[in-house]
Amino acid sequence: MEPTYYGHETENTRQRSNSNAGGVGDEQNPQFGMQAQLGKMMWEAGSKQVQDTFQSYGRIDLFRPYFDVDPAEVRTRLIRSFIPRKPAQIQVSPDLYGPSMIILTMVALLLYNMKTSGIIIQNGTLMGTAMFTCFGSWILISGALWVACFLLAAEQPFLTILSSFGYSLTSQCLVLLLTSLFHSSHDHLFFFVLLASFCIPSALRMGLIVCNQSRLPANRIMLIGIAIAAHLLLIIYLHFGFHVVLEELDEMVGDAIVDVNAIKETRSTHMSVISEHQVQLSSFDPIEKCVKSTCPGCKSSRKYFCYDCRTPMPGVFTPNVKLPCLVDIIKHPMEKNSKSSALHCKIVAPDQTRVFDYPDVHDYSQDSEEERLSTVIIFPSKSAISVEEFVRTRGPIRRIVVLDCTWFQVGVMQKTPQIQGLQHVCLQSYRTAFWRPQHNVPETGLATIEAIYYSLREYQELGLGTKYTGEFDDLLYWFFHTKHFVDGKQLEYLKRKEEENEKK
Ligand SMILES: [Zn+2]
Repeated sequence: MEPTYYGHETENTRQRSNSNAGGVGDEQNPQFGMQAQLGKMMWEAGSKQVQDTFQSYGRIDLFRPYFDVDPAEVRTRLIRSFIPRKPAQIQVSPDLYGPSMIILTMVALLLYNMKTSGIIIQNGTLMGTAMFTCFGSWILISGALWVACFLLAAEQPFLTILSSFGYSLTSQCLVLLLTSLFHSSHDHLFFFVLLASFCIPSALRMGLIVCNQSRLPANRIMLIGIAIAAHLLLIIYLHFGFHVVLEELDEMVGDAIVDVNAIKETRSTHMSVISEHQVQLSSFDPIEKCVKSTCPGCKSSRKYFCYDCRTPMPGVFTPNVKLPCLVDIIKHPMEKNSKSSALHCKIVAPDQTRVFDYPDVHDYSQDSEEERLSTVIIFPSKSAISVEEFVRTRGPIRRIVVLDCTWFQVGVMQKTPQIQGLQHVCLQSYRTAFWRPQHNVPETGLATIEAIYYSLREYQELGLGTKYTGEFDDLLYWFFHTKHFVDGKQLEYLKRKEEENEKK
């Protein structure tokens, strides 16, 4: 349940602090530390020789031949990179043009994956991170293989290894492309099938090239093993680190678990925040013993309600509320149903709520004028007025429209032709009850269901002047239920952490 954009327009990023995406580049491989050390020693030893080379050839001329290559030849090499052959049959004439192009393709694919999985890395652009990861791992792993060759008395020119490892990354690009196109969310089988059919042959070929000069069978096997392991570890890291696929549960709570030390004091005295004690929720007892069952609509396994069919599960308790006006939710397809708090509104007020999946949106310009003039969008734009002002000048609100999306998507959503001409209204300042520091969104970023709740409340209290006595508090029933769950998980996590610390 991500806080969305409601509230202040100060921040336009969505942060998913993901444990396996935070330190991109520095946690790729724990052995890099040692390898870097080794590499440094090797470097110092060889630096004099390298200096001599540079002095005699000049920097550019040394590299020129490696980029001067026929495109047809590059194509052949790309295809060959999938076919393992006997070391004696492999002729390596290294170029760096092909590998550079492959790495750039890889950067583009990772960027695509990062954007779709919603990762934002602090203190660095997406582009920089992807570049750093791809070029860094190419050069580092090649360096490590070169050192391994040297140590096992199978010396190879560094450029040969750099080039052939670069070409072997074609298979990784292919796997990244196919998984980002066809990945079904919870199934890693597809990835492993691709891994076996493309990456393993190309890793094997890589291994055979690396061990080319070795004479001892034991050393050969060791080198092949190292090459294959490095190759496969990289693709597994890229897949699981960047193409985030979380289990259903983690989708709900995974990114809300946080270390207590990271929690900063919040200073926001002027903003009201709803706590569970201030609302009258129905009891959670009736759903305590719920177990998963099959949804009659889509046959998926669900516990409380089906977020895809947007109906409660048969026989499962859910509160029902009467809202002071109708609610339309326009959902961005990138907002996962399982995480969307807006859908709670449909569950607890099914008759008064409509959900549209963008871009398949109701055309409000086709509504009667009376209806159109009494419909508002909750959106803090420059032309937005307060709920109170709207009611004072234009009369009662018939329907509110909320956009269920993040700041990333709101620009596009706002331009939807069907919703043009509707009056924008903004809310007063609130703080989300679900705020977590690592989200790095302002604490005013409300979950969509909170935004719905507050706007209806403002409408009733300030617009209609009717005292609010908790009539639709149960709008937040599932929201607080999720919060309980997350808080529980967090306590568990902290306890575990504490125990670990005590052991040390
Ligand atoms: Zn269903």
